[in-house]
Order: sequence, then C-alpha cells, then structure tokens
Amino acid sequence: MSHILKDSGARAQLIDGKAGAALVDAAVKVAAAELTPALGRTPALAVVLVGDDPASQVYVRNKIRRTEAAGMTSIEHRLPADTSRDTLLRLIEQLNNDDAVDGILVQLPLPDHLNAAEIVEAIDPFKDVDGLTAHNAGALVQGATGLRACTPSGCVWLAKQALGDLTGKSVVVIGRSILVGKPAALLFLAENCTVTLAHSRTRNLAEICAKADILVPAVGRPHMVKASWIKPGATVIDVGINRIDAEGGKSRLTGDVDFDQALKVADQITPVPGGVGPMTIAILLANTCTAAARRAGQPLPAALAELDLP
Ligand code: NDP
Repeated sequence: MSHILKDSGARAQLIDGKAGAALVDAAVKVAAAELTPALGRTPALAVVLVGDDPASQVYVRNKIRRTEAAGMTSIEHRLPADTSRDTLLRLIEQLNNDDAVDGILVQLPLPDHLNAAEIVEAIDPFKDVDGLTAHNAGALVQGATGLRACTPSGCVWLAKQALGDLTGKSVVVIGRSILVGKPAALLFLAENCTVTLAHSRTRNLAEICAKADILVPAVGRPHMVKASWIKPGATVIDVGINRIDAEGGKSRLTGDVDFDQALKVADQITPVPGGVGPMTIAILLANTCTAAARRAGQPLPAALAELDLP
C-alpha cells in the first residue's frame, strides 16, 4: 500500500499518482507480452485526433509514448480540423472492423461541428477503452462486465491503494459529467461506499463536503475546495486540472483544491500535477490489454488481474 504514499512535510501524505501509474504500466507491459502469442501480435490501441488543439496534441503524444513503452502497438490517425462527420464515422467503422485493433480512442474535445456523443457512440463497445459508450456506461450501472472510464477508475484505484477496503466510506464527488463525475460516483458505489454526487446546483456544498471520508472534486475551478470543507483526516482525490497564472508571467497547473491549506487537514491528498492525471493513461493501457484479452477469449493476464483495477 505505502509505495504510493509520500511524506509531504505537513499532516497529509501525498498520494503519488506517478508511482501508481508506473506500477500499472509495468503490469500492463507484462500482460501485453503474455497476450502476444495468443493474439499473434501485440495488443493495439488506435488513437484518433481531429484538429490541432495544443492540449490534445500533448495528451495524444503522451498516450502514444506510453503505449509503445508498454510494448503495445500504437496506431495514430491525425485528421484535419475540418474533417466531416461522415469521414470520421467511416474511419471509426474501419477501426471497428479491423481485427488487429483492440482499443479505439477518439481524443476529446472534438471541433464544434462534430457531435462528440454521436462519434463516441459509433465505437465498438468492446474496443471502447475510454469506457464512454452507452453500452459501457450501462454495464457500470448494472455492475456487469465492461470497460470502465479511465479517469474515474484511476481515482478509485488510488483511493484503494491509500486506504485499502473502501467499504462503508462516505464519498462526496463534486461534478456530474459523463466523463468523470457520474462514473466516479458509480465506481465508488461499486466499492460499497455511501456516495453523494454534488454539482453546481447543490445547496450547502461546504457542509456536505465536510462529512466526506473521501472527497473527489471534479469541477475545473482552481482552489474552489477550501481546507474548511475537508473533514480532518479525510482523503482528497483532486481530479481538477486548471491552468493559472504563475510568477514571471508563466502559468502552472493546479487542482480544484486549495492544496497548501488542505495539506494541514487531510490525511492523504493527490497533488496536481502528479496525482490523478498520470493514472488516466495507465488505465487506458490496462483497458486496451483487457479488451485484447476479452476479444481473443483469453483470461486476463495475472499481472493485470492482481492490480484489482475497478
Ligand atoms: P465538466 O465541465 O464537464 O463538468 C464540471 C462539473 O462541475 C459539472 O457537473 C458542474 O455542475 C460542476 N460544477 C461547476 N461549477 C460548480 C460549482 N461551483 N459547485 C459545484 N459543482 C460545480 O468537466 P469534466 O468533468 O470534464 O472535468 C472536471 C475537471 O477534471 C476539469 O478540471 C478537467 O480538466 C479535469 N479532468 C481531469 C482529468 C485527469 O486526467 N486528471 C481527465 C478529465 C477531466 P453542473 O453539471 O451542475 O453544471
């Protein structure tokens, strides 16, 4: 457990997402090698990037680098920003039908003229390694086999690494997006937590948060969550990624939590950057191996099963 907990010099220990991601990446590498003979090739992830959004370019570059470092095949499709709906849907259909592709990821956000929900829905649910199709969202609700959304899975896994069994913990998730908040709430529920899902219309948010054993802000508002909102001894999993002005005209990333103050109140907290962020790609790679194993009718390799991912 303690291998991902680091001393912060204050009350709270840091939950080191980079260390967690390195553990998952290493297990994925072993799993990918184990699956290769049965597949007759290495597990393969296809990434589709439409347009030239700078943040998306960075994410996609990291995904490709980590996929290859894990001994898997990375297939890259970069399309111009004015790509039509039909062209993109045709590419997804082609990837759906390609037996040598195990996972398909369409990098979001898409340019405004494309309907992200429609495009994501076109992905074969058995290759939907982002876990965002209705099929996989429904499987999560039902507790059925499926591919789970990456960032929320990373949050739950980090909480389990920090705390062990989560049964009976009271969890407050702030944010109800399809990408993060809703699946995070359902994944904590699946761990037998008692979950409150808060959002912009929630009343008395500070008081509700102050009752949480595990607080999971996923809003996108820098330093919104104050130390006074955190129960002493709580675990804070900060999903927010916000770019703010820093000294010398530069900018830096920060989370949704007033981190420096929260360090004095919480028992464990994820930093931003270096917390939930690195876990997202790690789970994506794990999902690609899981998809490859299921599609080939193979058992999940032991290295991956032992991680006990959500
Ligand atoms: P969305 O903008 O889709 O959702 C934000 C949610 O926050 C909404 O449900 C909204 O409520 C809620 N919200 C907004 N303002 C408040 C408020 N004042 N009080 C309470 N709730 C509020 O964002 P995402 O879910 O996509 O992302 C959330 C954050 O997580 C962002 O900072 C994003 O960058 C980060 N992120 C990080 C990832 C990672 O890998 N670490 C991956 C994905 C996202 P309502 O529904 O009522 O509008």
